[in-house]
Amino acid sequence: MTKFQVSTEGFNDIVNISSQVKEAINSSDVQEGIALVFVAHSTAAVTTIEHEEGVIQDLKEAAESLAPRDDNYHHNETAGDGNGDAHVKAALIGPNLMIPIEGGKLHLGTWQQPVLIDFDNRPRQREVMVKVMGQDD
Ligand code: ZN
Repeated sequence: MTKFQVSTEGFNDIVNISSQVKEAINSSDVQEGIALVFVAHSTAAVTTIEHEEGVIQDLKEAAESLAPRDDNYHHNETAGDGNGDAHVKAALIGPNLMIPIEGGKLHLGTWQQPVLIDFDNRPRQREVMVKVMGQDD
């Protein structure tokens, strides 16, 4: 298991984590298998996207329309940390990502890049885990 830290701005910040995930694969001996990328936080998520300015903005706006920051959330009454929207957005996208490994490399589309999304309402330091599993494990 490899872990790395990511500093985020919060508020739907989308951070490209391709190089860190590739590094985790390279530091393992696995040629054929699966990489599990997981974020152990309830207001962050991982997915893949083309890391291009336009589509990054589109995803942020789509997340806002699914769970607008200024809506009323029960969580904001019960927990008082004001980030009910962040929990909902993170749950919808999910905390994990599985990527096949072939020939010692991640099998991703040409423009498909792993990203961490931080939905929280403040800058955060996040830990991302990469568990590499070989086909023979
Ligand atoms: Zn909360």
